[in-house]
Amino acid sequence: MSILSAPHFHDEAAAFARVEKVIWPDGPVCHHCGCMGRISAIAPNPEKRVRFGLKRCGDCKKQFTVRMGTIFEESKLPLHIWLQAMHLMCSSKKGVSAHQLHRTLEITYKSAWFLAHRIREAMRSDELAPFGHGGGAVEVDETFIGREPGMEVKRAFHHKLKVLALVDRETGRVRSMVVDNLRPETIAPILAANISREARLMTDEAHVYKKIGHDFAGHGTVNHLRGEYVSTVDPSVFTNTIEGYFSIFKRGMKGIYQHASKKHLHRYLAEFDFRYSHRIANGYDDTARAVTALQGVVGKRLTYKLSDSPSRP
Ligand SMILES: [Zn+2]
Repeated sequence: MSILSAPHFHDEAAAFARVEKVIWPDGPVCHHCGCMGRISAIAPNPEKRVRFGLKRCGDCKKQFTVRMGTIFEESKLPLHIWLQAMHLMCSSKKGVSAHQLHRTLEITYKSAWFLAHRIREAMRSDELAPFGHGGGAVEVDETFIGREPGMEVKRAFHHKLKVLALVDRETGRVRSMVVDNLRPETIAPILAANISREARLMTDEAHVYKKIGHDFAGHGTVNHLRGEYVSTVDPSVFTNTIEGYFSIFKRGMKGIYQHASKKHLHRYLAEFDFRYSHRIANGYDDTARAVTALQGVVGKRLTYKLSDSPSRP
């Protein structure tokens, strides 16, 4: 027996049972009127085209399934295939390419591409609580990847896409975002919204953080240009955690995804943030991570125009 032998990866009824248990922990909720209690299950009947997981509400008399209102809604793929894809994306440290999903799941490349982006939406965190609550250390750093549309290639990082990321050292969680530039007027409001005033900010000596640093209880800096990675004055001052995160992100983007446009980069970041924040050191094994992703499928329906998808097979 392997993890992949679990019934919900093969049997459609078991897949529905699995998803229903996570999304409706207290029993089915009518998609139309929100009522619980007087809901009956309709037995699936492929000959009469009665779908798996179909329910009927005794109050509003309408029918629904657990797929409604989730990332699964506008898809014809069986739910057990979705669960396989979610497991693969949750358990692979650097991600899974749409090509790999296409071959492994035996679905079209286009389906694989859409499915992967929807799963990234499910992974996207809605959490707004500021990092560094209680005075903890929050590491902040930026990295550069890909290419800013319409920008001339220069030697510096000017023409590249800019990513800003924050790690809460106490909780081990990361939050990252695409930013248009690294000017203080762009960065300061992001840090103010995402980091508690009582936190100790940890950055390199980049000019942009100097003034912002005064807004927090403390600000430790390391001087990378001088080859300093941990402060010789205070060993709790370092940015190694956030650099470790960027290294996973970059290896994944270069090795697996190869290219992401500015339009989609935030979705890849959501995927890497999700896996990092729910890594084994934070108490999540592959199965727990997949269940957490499943909890995120509600209310994140995405509709893509066909023109959004890549043209290569
Ligand atoms: Zn109802």
